[in-house]
Parts: sequence; C-alpha cells; structure tokens
Amino acid sequence: MSAIRISLHGAAGEVTGSCTLVETPMARVVVDLGLYQGSPENEARNHVMPSIDFARVDAVVVTHAHVDHCGRLGLLPALGYDGAIFASEPTAALLPVVLRSSASLQKLRVDEFSEKTAPKCEVLEPANLRWSSWERHESPKVLFGHQAAGQVARELIAVPWEEWEDIAPGVRLRLHHASHMLGAASVELECEIPGSTPKRVLLSGDIGAFGSPVLAPHRFPDGPIDAVVMESTNGARALGGAGIAAAAPAKTAKDGVGELRELVALARERDGRILLPSFAVGRSQLLVYAFSQLAREGVLGDTPVFLDSGMASRACSLMGRWPHLLSPALQRARLAGKDPFDFEQFRPLRSREESGVIDGMRRSCAVIAGSGFCDAGPMLRHLLRSLPKKSTLLLFAGHVLHDTLAWGLRHGATRIAINGEVIEVHAQIGKLSGFSGHASPDELVEWLERVPGEPRVILNHGTQQARSGMAELVHDRLGRAAVAPPLEVTHDV
Ligand SMILES: [Zn+2]
Repeated sequence: MSAIRISLHGAAGEVTGSCTLVETPMARVVVDLGLYQGSPENEARNHVMPSIDFARVDAVVVTHAHVDHCGRLGLLPALGYDGAIFASEPTAALLPVVLRSSASLQKLRVDEFSEKTAPKCEVLEPANLRWSSWERHESPKVLFGHQAAGQVARELIAVPWEEWEDIAPGVRLRLHHASHMLGAASVELECEIPGSTPKRVLLSGDIGAFGSPVLAPHRFPDGPIDAVVMESTNGARALGGAGIAAAAPAKTAKDGVGELRELVALARERDGRILLPSFAVGRSQLLVYAFSQLAREGVLGDTPVFLDSGMASRACSLMGRWPHLLSPALQRARLAGKDPFDFEQFRPLRSREESGVIDGMRRSCAVIAGSGFCDAGPMLRHLLRSLPKKSTLLLFAGHVLHDTLAWGLRHGATRIAINGEVIEVHAQIGKLSGFSGHASPDELVEWLERVPGEPRVILNHGTQQARSGMAELVHDRLGRAAVAPPLEVTHDV
C-alpha cells in the first residue's frame, strides 16, 4: 500500500454518527466515534459497529465533545481497543463528564422502558407532521456503562494546540482551533509513506461560524495539505432547497443578538416566556453570552434568564480556563476582571428539582434548557406549561432533526402530546438566526480556501442534499472537485 486510504464509517449523507478511518502503510487511525441521534431507528444503529477492526487500530483521535462525534467512545474497550485517545485539553476535560452522563442516560432509558415511564412525545395535528416510529416496541439497549466510560477517560491524552505529537507508527498529529465549541479541533495528520514524501490529511471536525462572539477565530495548518475531510452540515443552504436549513439565510451572531433584543422586548410586553431548546455545550454558551450583552445594554430589565442544565452551567464556568480560546471581546472582559457569562439576571440551575422555580414565575423570563430536539430533559416540562399560552415564544436557534418533537413544532404542529398529556399549541414558534454552531456555505468555502495546498476534498457530516450543494459550491467558486462518498468506500490519496 503506497497511498493514504480514507473511509467514512458514519456521518456519510447525514449529520450524526461521525467516524472516519485513515489508513497509512504503517498505521490505522480512527477520528471520532459518534452517536447516531434522532429516531429510535437511528438510535438502534448505534449497536451496529463500524466495520473497523479496532484491535488493529493504532490511535483514536476525537475532534470535540459533542455526542455525535464522541458518544460511542465508551464502546472502545468492548471493541478490543485499549490504546490512547487523543484530544485537545478542553475536550479531554469535557469527555469524562460527557461519557459518564451518557452511561447514566442509557441506564435511565432502559429503566424508563421497563417501568413504562419513558418520555413519549407525539405530534397529533396536523396529520402530515406525525411520525410513526417514535414508540419503542423493544427495550433500548445499554451501549456502555460507567466502568467502560471510566476506562476510556483514563486513556485520554490531552494534546497541546498546534504542536506535533507522535500518535502512531509514522503518524504525527496537530490540532487547530475550529471555533465550533470549547475545545473543538480540526485534526491534521502527517503520515509517513516509505520511499516517498509524507502526506498530510486535515479532518475538519465541525467548523464553527466565522466571527464567533464567544470563541477565538479558526486556525489553519501552515503547510500544504493533500486531502481534507470536511463537514457540510449547512452545505445545502446555498441551493435554497427544501428543509429547515434552507428556511433562512445565514446571519451573524450580531444579527442574532439584534433579533433576540426585539423578542425580549415582545416577551416583556406580554409577560411571556421565551423558551430556547438547546444542547448543553456550544449553543447554550452563545445564548447566555447574547443575554449578557442585552443585560449590559439595559434592555433585559428584571427578566430572569434561566439555564436549566447542570452540564451547560459547568461548561460556562470551564470556558475561562483557556482564555486564549476565547474571542477578543471575551478576553478583554476577563482582563477587566469580569466574568462574561455572568450578569445580574442570570440564574443557572444545578438540578432538576430547581426547575420548579420556573413553574411559579408569573412574569416574563427566558429559559435555556435541553434537549435541543425536545425529546427528553427539562425542556419537556417547560413545553407542557408554556406551549398552550399565546404569550410564549419558542425559539429554535439551530438545526433540528427529522422525526423529533422539535422538528414537528418547528414545522407548525398545532396539537401535540407529551407523556400522554395533550396540548394545544398556541405559542409563537420561530427560528433564531445567527446562533448556528456551524459555518454557513460561504464560510465553509472560505475555510477550504484558507487550507494551504490543493487538497482532495471529501465531504462528510451533511445530508445528501447538503453534500451535493457543497460539492457544487466548491466547484463553482474554487473550480475544484469534492466527493461525497457513501459509507465504507475507500478513497486513496
Ligand atoms: Zn459539533
């Protein structure tokens, strides 16, 4: 074998389950081992292992701590892999927490099924938004437990940013800031080829939107790259095609704060609630920071902002540990002795019991809570209480998966049921632009343009439509070809 071989073992034509295998003549490296998310059918796919012989894998690298990139790492011991797992320092700090909470959640799901207490979310009307697959007929299975999560956590090696680290025979690794969430990295691999010059592969991981108000800008390799494996979550927007991602043009976080300012004023006028379903790490911090800006402007008044997620609160406080990864504005705030994530009206909640405080609120407030797909977590409680009220604003700040309650609500569900309780939806529902954790199509092209050399381009982490849209854009703007391979098809570089 004289070439580098790259194959996708997840997130090929979809946005979850990231896993890529890079094979060199001397070693095999796996980048990411993520969960499939969404419907029970998708979740069931987590039990079908990638066709990779993990006993022969030399190194595993993780781009970031979102579960669609790291959620199956707990399977590594059972798959026969007992080597090191390389990640950036913040990712290595977040992963043990994410894996432990994932193990607890899996056990909870099994218990809920056997006790018939599993959350059940349905769209009842209109009929075209119903989906048939939600009800579980078989017990969910535990992927891994606390012991495996602990074992994986012990194998984590934190790699300094932008410094070469030997990770496998003939393979060196360098991490570059991807400006997507705390610790998110693009992974550069330099691979020795006997009798030839080494080749370099760059795996983007998730690429953050440009100009993040919270995170430092993207960083890039300083030498020519031979192949790029690149995410394309927002690739379809350029086509203006169907689907939620095409519903609004890409906006900046500055526009997002402007929208939020108007919506806060509206909620205050109505004494209504703003509900923001959000995952714990990434968007939650963007939203908290946006509210802190409004607080500083004085437009928040006495409206409390609840962050109903222990993990999201922890992630807010972790941000300060790596000041060089923060945006220039946040670095300035810290130098002036201010915590950019704290403001008078901010109420981080540490436990589910504390969620009850929100129930009794009679005036306007904002609630950021999980899950982002409205299929579990404290957000269900807030939806039950607030969706029947006209004064409620339910705002989706990011991508929602098909066949989830979030998807139904985002597309106009008028009657839903949560755990058998039927609710007429009178709340106003909309999309909040500018808070995407993912780069827009134009930004994806710009990111690719800034990668040195003329690399081959392999697209992953996007629907088929998004990958086609991205390939077309790369061709039109840069005159280069990009491929969107199916699962397990090998590309030689
Ligand atoms: Zn991500």
